[in-house]
Amino acid sequence: MTSKQVNVYDFSLPGLVDWFATLGEPAYRAKQLYRHLYVLRTGDWDAMTDFSKPLRQQLADQAQLGCLKPVKRLEGDHGLTRKMLWSLPDGAPVETVLMIYPDRATVCVSSQSGCPMQCVFCATGKLGFLHDLTPGEIIEQVMWAERELADFRAQATASPSPPSKLTNIVFMGMGEPFNNYDQWWTSVERLHDPAGYDMGARNFTVSTVGLVPGILRLADAPLPINLAISLHAADDETRSEMMPVNKRYPIEELIAATRTYTEKTRRRVSFEYVLLKEKNDFPEQAARLGQLLRPEGAPPLLCHVNLIPWNPVPGTPLGRSDRNRVLRFQAALRACGVPCTVRVERGVDIAAACGQLAGA
Ligand code: SF4
Repeated sequence: MTSKQVNVYDFSLPGLVDWFATLGEPAYRAKQLYRHLYVLRTGDWDAMTDFSKPLRQQLADQAQLGCLKPVKRLEGDHGLTRKMLWSLPDGAPVETVLMIYPDRATVCVSSQSGCPMQCVFCATGKLGFLHDLTPGEIIEQVMWAERELADFRAQATASPSPPSKLTNIVFMGMGEPFNNYDQWWTSVERLHDPAGYDMGARNFTVSTVGLVPGILRLADAPLPINLAISLHAADDETRSEMMPVNKRYPIEELIAATRTYTEKTRRRVSFEYVLLKEKNDFPEQAARLGQLLRPEGAPPLLCHVNLIPWNPVPGTPLGRSDRNRVLRFQAALRACGVPCTVRVERGVDIAAACGQLAGA
């Protein structure tokens, strides 16, 4: 992208109308482009044949249909998991993962390049923070996943074939969305826009490391999207060792903010809990987690716990909990009355699973 070119995915519909006006084009042309971007998901100026050839040329000269450059595309799980490594104009990496199931299709999107939060079990954290992504750079990832899904459907012979449109958008890729709140939220509103891509609010999930101001802000947000919180430990000492953010927002403050969120929204929160062998996977720790989420003398927190067996990250001395330890932890948590499930992992073979995104 040259410095004179704009990324059309950075524009709202009114923004596109204004931009077309600077080209001397009427508003209805902007609406046509918006439809190409979000309804038809056209990935090429030449395919927009309802525009004259000179206009297509003018648009191609002055704008980019996305500014993420594809670097490496990988497939795993027999083509059902697809990962794209992109680079930003300065070479910084961004990754996106599409997971296709018989009845749903989920894209895991990055909100930053690298991440400043430095969770010890996560490959992205080891990159450090490189960039906040713009709304357009976040949205482009979703449109790529749509084209991959269409490609998969065109070749699929198995029945039933997967859905014709993504069913879920999860902000669990590189980065901490609440650290880039405004740009990330703009991407949510754009993707939700009924005049365009029209993704239902309940089909979005944002995952946070536990940034309390972001949780409280989301509690007042106008769209009822889902919230997942990376908890990973039930005591401050263990959590601070795993996640430096805990020193800023310790567990008590995090749980209080979560309670405010569930009381205001009446929506259930998911807690993510990565299981590390002999670090946070003892049954006593499950019991402590149970007390935290279902405290005596107070109403239980409206929540669900996702247990995630840790995925290997090179260069860390951490171990993966074996199946017996996972099941023992789950049983101890259930005994406290906390609903919990063990997440079935996708994409481990192509380093596309949780915590493995490292720009390689
Ligand atoms: S787990 Fe999430 S918040 Fe923590 S370092 Fe990795 S990407 Fe950042």
